[in-house]
Amino acid sequence: RRAATRVAEALDAVAAVLDEHADELGRLDRVAGDGDHGIGMQRGSRAARDAAHEALEAGAGAGTTVQRAGDAWGDRAGGTSGAIWAAMLDAFARSIGDEDAVEAAAVAEGVRQAEEAVERVGGAAVGDKTMVDAIVPFVRTLTERVGAGDPLPQAWDAAVQAADQGAESTKELTAKLGRARSHGEKSRGTADPGAVSFALVVGTVGGRLW
Ligand code: ADP
Ligand code: MG
Ligand code: MG
Repeated sequence: RRAATRVAEALDAVAAVLDEHADELGRLDRVAGDGDHGIGMQRGSRAARDAAHEALEAGAGAGTTVQRAGDAWGDRAGGTSGAIWAAMLDAFARSIGDEDAVEAAAVAEGVRQAEEAVERVGGAAVGDKTMVDAIVPFVRTLTERVGAGDPLPQAWDAAVQAADQGAESTKELTAKLGRARSHGEKSRGTADPGAVSFALVVGTVGGRLW
């Protein structure tokens, strides 16, 4: 199948998983945030899925398909995480481009660019109890594994585990940024919703992109 087809199918799966986890993500966001993270991710990923299928039908390549998906996500999701997901997908899309063979090195570069985009848009660092706590270990592991010559599927799986651990590690942290900053202390003991949803998304696309 074409790379763009695989992208659209991966987004089908992402929208389905975020549907299943919307209540849980909302509950996590209610602890120190405003409770809308599940709804936001649901709206964003549905719009991204629909835009990807439209792009695919119009004959777009993988990069353009991801780009359109990211634009739709940002437009429909609202919230901090919507803007961040749009920026991440835009950065990733530029790295993978529209060629049909998506190389491991381009994927690794794409996730590095996505991490930089998050840091540029949100200004958060590791330890601030945000999605950055899942993204940074994910990108570090993927870069290391791909650099060591591991095949992309194995490298991606290892990176997903690192993202899961990163999301889990946010339980011990106190939120300092975003809406959670005013009642950050309450967030101790509860994982950051954006970190949890990031780990869910990367765990879902792996295996579907290649
Ligand atoms: P909002 O906070 O606008 O209601 P969401 O509830 O959809 O948006 O997303 C909240 C998540 O966004 C948080 O759990 C956190 O992971 C992430 N987030 C918030 N602020 C930042 C930031 N400055 N940088 C990176 N991620 C952030
Ligand atoms: Mg929220
Ligand atoms: Mg909100």
